[in-house]
Amino acid sequence: MRYPKLRELREAVLSLVTPAYTTRFPKEPHTPFKNYRGKPIVSDADCVGCETCANVCPPGAITFRDDKEKRIRIIERDYGKCIFCGQCEEHCITGKGVKLSDEIYDIAQFDRTVLMERQEKELLICESCGAVITTKEHLAFMHRKLGPRAFSSLLNLNVLNEQLRLARAEDIKVGVRDGLKRKDMFNIVCPNCLRKILVKISY
Ligand code: SF4
Ligand code: SF4
Repeated sequence: MRYPKLRELREAVLSLVTPAYTTRFPKEPHTPFKNYRGKPIVSDADCVGCETCANVCPPGAITFRDDKEKRIRIIERDYGKCIFCGQCEEHCITGKGVKLSDEIYDIAQFDRTVLMERQEKELLICESCGAVITTKEHLAFMHRKLGPRAFSSLLNLNVLNEQLRLARAEDIKVGVRDGLKRKDMFNIVCPNCLRKILVKISY
């Protein structure tokens, strides 16, 4: 028979008189410590539907699908697959689109479908070739971020939606006419067909 080492004996005696490290959850409520990585919480108002979080999610819990007919991007988050790694929060381009809760940890379910969340974002589609460019909110976010520099990029597309208030819908449809000055316009191109569009700016 091997005798216990002194260190192990000491730990065994100490454990008899120290409080337990584990909690009695689910019999008693558990309070997670600060910065605990619990369920990711999406703020739809701060999410622009850019796809970045889907590209960094290790188990593929976030998926994106574009429906060209309805002109929407569908984002689905399956928390049954989530490993609470925090990569989506870390890489979110707005910094506020998704954050892991340090309070919500008990999400176990028998029905996995209740762990699915869905968002929809309006798409920006090239009127010439029909290619999906991105979501309107994503483009608006880039413009807010770039400020005046947004106008220096040909690939910085479609500044013409109403959200940006750079041109009214009826102004976008009109062709170039006499009297329209060069300073009132800039070129944008579709990344797929490279079709140039002249956009009139009205302040
Ligand atoms: S926490 Fe990790 S696994 Fe969960 S959705 Fe975010 S990136 Fe994916
Ligand atoms: S990275 Fe952020 S903004 Fe982009 S889709 Fe994910 S949550 Fe939304």
